[in-house]
Amino acid sequence: MRPARALIDLQALRHNYRLAREVSGAKALAVIKADAYGHGAVRCAQALADEADGFAVACIEEALELRNAGIRAPILLLEGFFEAEELALIEQHDFWCVVHSLWQVDAIERAALSTPLRVWLKLDSGMHRVGLHPADYQAAHRRLLASGKVAKIVLMSHFARADELGCPRSAEQVAVFEQVRQGLSGEVSLRNSPAILGWPQLFPQQQASDWVRPGIMLYGATPFDQAQATAAQLQPVMTLESKIICVRELPAGEPVGYAARFVTERPTRVGVVAMGYADGYPRHAPTGTPVAIDGQLSRLIGRVSMDMLTVDLSDLPQAGLGSRVELWGKQVLASDVAACAETIPYQLFCNLRRVQTVYLGS
Ligand SMILES: *Cc1c(COP(=O)(O)O)cnc(C)c1O
Repeated sequence: MRPARALIDLQALRHNYRLAREVSGAKALAVIKADAYGHGAVRCAQALADEADGFAVACIEEALELRNAGIRAPILLLEGFFEAEELALIEQHDFWCVVHSLWQVDAIERAALSTPLRVWLKLDSGMHRVGLHPADYQAAHRRLLASGKVAKIVLMSHFARADELGCPRSAEQVAVFEQVRQGLSGEVSLRNSPAILGWPQLFPQQQASDWVRPGIMLYGATPFDQAQATAAQLQPVMTLESKIICVRELPAGEPVGYAARFVTERPTRVGVVAMGYADGYPRHAPTGTPVAIDGQLSRLIGRVSMDMLTVDLSDLPQAGLGSRVELWGKQVLASDVAACAETIPYQLFCNLRRVQTVYLGS
């Protein structure tokens, strides 16, 4: 059997969830959209079921998968409904629903509902993606309450630049939010992972009944491109690993792989690993991207191909055929691999496919 696999450490997932709660002092919706960032939404939800205050997904298809697997906890739809017909299912399965646009307010007013909805009313406090315009927010809030179709409204917004430590934009967004929400009572939900980890000082009014929305930090990857003390306490959840399936010795001056992107500078022992971009390993990872071989650090060399990639074994005489290779995990951080490949750990995780997934713990 092909040795490429992703090990998912569910104990680490719980550790990271507890950290999100502890450092925020709020309730935490575990964000498990996009199949829990490639980690498996159902298994991650089951692992957190005893302690999570709720879950968040992108859409009703993802939410139904969780309900069908027996997850009874609250599930928030982060983009709400895409068409008004979904409101019937939202009611039937008791999903919570973001409202980010006026057309959704109209649809709720018109809907025939027998149980009132739980709405998270999203303000565009400066990201300018989705969210109600500040000038429309209070009126939308009033209309939803007056419709009789809504039981409770959580006041919500989202940060565009919380991963940039030292950037003033997050404080500006908080100020816009505080200004707009004046006079409205209710639970508040502003923070994603970088805001939970990096900006505790921005939320002096934080109530224990408020909500945070940790995503990437649950999976143990830092959202920052620099060292950060709280992020250092995260435990990587996914280990992507495979094995060396072929070894060759080359003299200096020989090309390795497609396009001869790497040429040996000295006599080189090359290991071929069963892992490629069809598994989700980034094709743009350059020579020098870290890998760990039997626990020792080495580097990727040459171009990543669809099913294989090549690594440098020259300084690892013990390593050879069958050696275990960690592409990312507890030794080689996904965020470091992502930085080498000019992407973010979010995308590395979401791109994962074909490899066998193995869950550790329960
Ligand atoms: C995805 C998402 C999150 C989680 O973001 P992370 O950076 O992964 O913590 C939180 N809130 C909303 C609205 C999201 O779409």
